[in-house]
Amino acid sequence: MKQITHWIDGAPWARPAAARAGEVYDPATGQVAATVDYADADAVDAAVAAAERAFADWRDASLSKRTSVLFAFRDLVARHRSELAGLITAEHGQTLEDAAGEVQRGLEVVEFACGIPHLLKGGFAENVSSAVDSYSLRQPLGVVAGITPFNFPAMVPMWMFPIAIACGNTFVLKPSEKDPSTSIRLAELWAEAGLPAGVFNVVHGDKVAVDRLLTHPDVKAVSFVGSTPIARYVYETGTAAGKRVQALGGAKNHMVVLPDADLDLAADAAVSAGFGSAGERCMAISVVVAVDPVGDSLVAKIADRISGLRVGDGRRGCDMGPLVTRAHRDKVAGYLDAGVAAGAKLAVDGRDHAIDGAAEGFWLGPTLFDQVTADMSIYTDEIFGPVLSVVRVPTYDQAVTLVNENPYGNGTAIFTNDGGAARQFQHEVQVGMVGVNVPIPVPMAYFSFGGWKSSLFGDTNVHGPDGVHFYTRVKTVTARWPIPTGERAVALHFPTAT
Ligand code: NAD
Repeated sequence: MKQITHWIDGAPWARPAAARAGEVYDPATGQVAATVDYADADAVDAAVAAAERAFADWRDASLSKRTSVLFAFRDLVARHRSELAGLITAEHGQTLEDAAGEVQRGLEVVEFACGIPHLLKGGFAENVSSAVDSYSLRQPLGVVAGITPFNFPAMVPMWMFPIAIACGNTFVLKPSEKDPSTSIRLAELWAEAGLPAGVFNVVHGDKVAVDRLLTHPDVKAVSFVGSTPIARYVYETGTAAGKRVQALGGAKNHMVVLPDADLDLAADAAVSAGFGSAGERCMAISVVVAVDPVGDSLVAKIADRISGLRVGDGRRGCDMGPLVTRAHRDKVAGYLDAGVAAGAKLAVDGRDHAIDGAAEGFWLGPTLFDQVTADMSIYTDEIFGPVLSVVRVPTYDQAVTLVNENPYGNGTAIFTNDGGAARQFQHEVQVGMVGVNVPIPVPMAYFSFGGWKSSLFGDTNVHGPDGVHFYTRVKTVTARWPIPTGERAVALHFPTAT
């Protein structure tokens, strides 16, 4: 049985077996594929201490040195893309193609971070006062931590650590305990790229490890991505301990379809964004808002496309894989009964879908609900599975009100051929990432990613320019190099420019 342990100070942690460990499943077979050690406070302290020791040299490493390591890491991740995708699929269940796509999106953040010399350039003003110059520097914080969810075991950590490390920080990653192998392979690739020991560390585990990171005095900042209740907890606990925290939470993403939209394009988008990665994406579309009179036609087109989806083992060229664990599969399946009981119309029942995989796998086929209303749990809860709800509304205004009254604000999309309507929507919708005829508007690496309302706690987004801001603090220097005159010039008033 494969045993996965922490990566601390440039190597697997050599301590005897941890007191606590968890099981890691292959979701397509339903079998236990590995065990993973759960860190107690001692293991977290060892990782933070290694990162603290490494910080002194890494913060002083030249930008050329840091970028040479980043370029080498970039090449290694690109070369090992298929291998990384295989590790993801084996523990997460998403298809190999989907997993390769997530590696690619993470790689793009590494490429962005390769430009760190430009991104860290400060400002300079000559002669702010007579013979006085002023300039600003961005400096790293120290040891920073990342806590990440199961659904993107490569991409979400790579939203964080390439930029943090490029800025001169050292990093402790606490990945999801459900699919921990990818993080260890990434740590090995960092070592191969020449990253000094201790700059990147991985501790596995659960709340025990998270709590220690949130309160450890040497951890200066925490980036979190996961469900909203945990994001709120991490934000409140981390900031109360004096840390800089960005905590991205859950989502309920609406796709508004106006009467003038191309309904085939909209149906393709709804199925792709609703069922890709079995709906286990924070940017998945979970609600289609059909503005009258498109409802009947759109539901028929979506149902037709669902019937053609191949569900099965992600290694077999299917469209959609299993859910991540049996418990999660059963929780999601429970919403099918809840939706029917609440009065929604079960237009497509995913439990009847043909499956190309082992009987013990964590399967649930794509499900479509019609006639959903805002008071039903299938609407209010983040289901995080292959369940798409259609809410019918009479007007555009009611569609926007529905989206804006939802407590989440991660992503949304509008499908229309009316540029004016799209422009109005992007202006008034209370959501952080907006697509116009694009169903999953995930910003590229050189923009920043983040939602509004209960989808993000803190005030900076991840990666892109916000990532550089989050992982650095500004120092502003005002300097005079006097030419000796022999005259005295004591002045007690507040300095103003002369
Ligand atoms: P999760 O909240 O269960 O876990 C996230 C992390 O928190 C994991 O590392 C986990 O070990 C840790 N954790 C779990 N319970 C904890 C507790 N009680 N105290 C402290 N730490 C705890 O999330 P998940 O199920 O792994 O991932 C799915 C969720 O992540 C969904 O809600 C999804 O929307 C969200 N997500 C959001 C984004 C985004 O960018 N906003 C991106 C990806 C996923």
